[in-house]
Amino acid sequence: MKTLFTARRLYTPLEEIQHALLFVEDGLIAEISSRSAKETPHNVARIDFDDAAIAPGYVDIHIHGGAGLDVMLASQAELPRLGKFLAAHGVTSYFPTTVAAPLDQTCAALERMAAAIEDGTTIANGDSVQARPLGVHLEGPFLSHKRRGVHPPENLVLPSIEIFERFWQASRGHVRMMTIAPELPGALEVISEAARRNVCVSIGHSDAEMPIAQAAVAAGARHATHTFNAMRPLDHRDPGILGEVLTNSRIGADIIADGIHVSPAIVKLFLQAKGVDGAVLITDAIAATGMPDGRYQLGPIQVDVKDGKCTTDGKLAGSTLTMDRAVRNVTQFSNWGLRDAVQAATLNPARAVGLAKHHGLLAPGVEASFVVLSPAGEVLRTVVRGV
Ligand SMILES: [Zn+2]
Repeated sequence: MKTLFTARRLYTPLEEIQHALLFVEDGLIAEISSRSAKETPHNVARIDFDDAAIAPGYVDIHIHGGAGLDVMLASQAELPRLGKFLAAHGVTSYFPTTVAAPLDQTCAALERMAAAIEDGTTIANGDSVQARPLGVHLEGPFLSHKRRGVHPPENLVLPSIEIFERFWQASRGHVRMMTIAPELPGALEVISEAARRNVCVSIGHSDAEMPIAQAAVAAGARHATHTFNAMRPLDHRDPGILGEVLTNSRIGADIIADGIHVSPAIVKLFLQAKGVDGAVLITDAIAATGMPDGRYQLGPIQVDVKDGKCTTDGKLAGSTLTMDRAVRNVTQFSNWGLRDAVQAATLNPARAVGLAKHHGLLAPGVEASFVVLSPAGEVLRTVVRGV
């Protein structure tokens, strides 16, 4: 059955189409057009979104939990609750993200995540408007002690192909992203091996000086994790990892645009440095997202949440940010319009992790997973595979 969705505008997101017509058939996008180019047919089911904008579903490549669930602790049966919560905030695909934990705990979590990813491809229609896990992001344990944030020091280990291989096996090859500190002994070997397996290697939780960051890029790293947070600070005579991340247009970078992790002015600086094609929005959200203040688990870490701010021993421990808010924040912190902000939450993350063929964009033949936004960026509806 064919369904026609109409809206005031549509972001592919590279193009903005006015008075958009979006035809969906069997869960896929059949055609995108505009009222000026095509008569609106009468013989199809039709859903009008009037003043709204249609955009690709958001892609969150760094998220630890939400709706009271932690992705390392949740059972496979619980995960749909997180998926529904995320969909309500415009997200249609996400990467469950680990924190540094004892190796056997990490492997057990990876096995559960792999099962959820494999199961997600066959979710039946009906009450299935939920974001799907598409791959795993390994945040740690190959992180710098000096820039570990709240990752427990006893769980940090030096990079080794052998340990990476254990994770790879446990996840059944679903590791699609890995955050690593490139200055650690053994890091460059692990970076090249992971890159060879098409893992998006992201430098972060790092005290690297600039030449080491450059060596990481040469070895295959192509992204940076929560830019500015858990990184050697930028110094004008010692630019460090940030000097490389902000000036090398060949690598993408992500940022937590909640106004807490990084000040709005620095978000603006970041957007200018990485540009509309390189900037990626993440949430780094934890179980507390969408929940009242209180105490929550982040893998093995206990986190106190007050006024939505997450801390452990006074250090920031993830966020309660949602992707729709991150997009709106960008339009408020900078001079970027909604289309550019949407690109940083859709096509750019999908490209960074090699999923842009089927996610993060609207085009004929692509899965019809999209978000309907008010002119101010509020989520009016999320559609997953045409439903
Ligand atoms: Zn994180």
